[in-house]
Amino acid sequence: MYRGVAMTIAGSDSGGGAGIQADLKTFMGLNVFGVSAVTAVTAQNSMGVYHVENLSVRSVREQIRCLLSDFPVRAVKIGMLSTGEIMEAVAEELSSYPGPVVLDPVMVSQSGHSLMDSGAERAMRERLLPLASLVTPNLPEAERLLGLPPGSIATKGDMLDAANRLLEAGCRGVLLKGGHLPGDDIFDVLICGAEEVLFEDRRIPGGNDHGTGCTLSSAIAAELAAGEDLKTAVTRGREFVRRGMETGVRLGRGHGCLYHRA
Ligand code: PLP
Repeated sequence: MYRGVAMTIAGSDSGGGAGIQADLKTFMGLNVFGVSAVTAVTAQNSMGVYHVENLSVRSVREQIRCLLSDFPVRAVKIGMLSTGEIMEAVAEELSSYPGPVVLDPVMVSQSGHSLMDSGAERAMRERLLPLASLVTPNLPEAERLLGLPPGSIATKGDMLDAANRLLEAGCRGVLLKGGHLPGDDIFDVLICGAEEVLFEDRRIPGGNDHGTGCTLSSAIAAELAAGEDLKTAVTRGREFVRRGMETGVRLGRGHGCLYHRA
């Protein structure tokens, strides 16, 4: 039997390694039933993003509304929302949702394609952050959310400061991912409630990392949907992503992605 029901609100990656597709594969890999509200359709393969088309605000609203009115959704993951208008609508639709919300503040793909309008940054800060039980930025995303110059989060100490400043911005938990720091020692900082956890790992070689952010946030949402507490969900989510990277697959001519199995 499924361990729970989780909903993803995110963009489609036609290449299957990130976005809605990664989220649903992750839910399945963790034996959680996944439902989805698509916000945008990207034309994408292992080499990059070629085109993005946003769905209408009405369509995004209707998908969320009809899912929440029927399924026992126990956790929500928010991924790519490319306009301020869509962010506003998602925030309104989730305003009375009682369960945990994991926000992956998707801004730019690893291939360098912008996945969010410049005007949407404010809506993300003001409308989505306050909804989030957990926000999962990488370092460039955290810098943009905090209005810091690129490269200014450069040490473990900077990461702790930045994570605390994100909490002050209104979310209830922060997982700040340090994969962009140079070197082979990786640090991720989790702050939730009074607890501060530092995850330390070695970098996984191989570069099959397309969709790691999507997969991590959806794995955390899946564990929350299964009833785990936030710290356990993050610990297991990180393990799922690291295993997926170790056994990653390169199927196209470009970037490889994760193997989405527990
Ligand atoms: N495409 C979609 C629809 C996404 O949601 C994301 C990331 O969240 C990406 C592409 C980018 O994935 P990556 O940066 O891992 O290449």
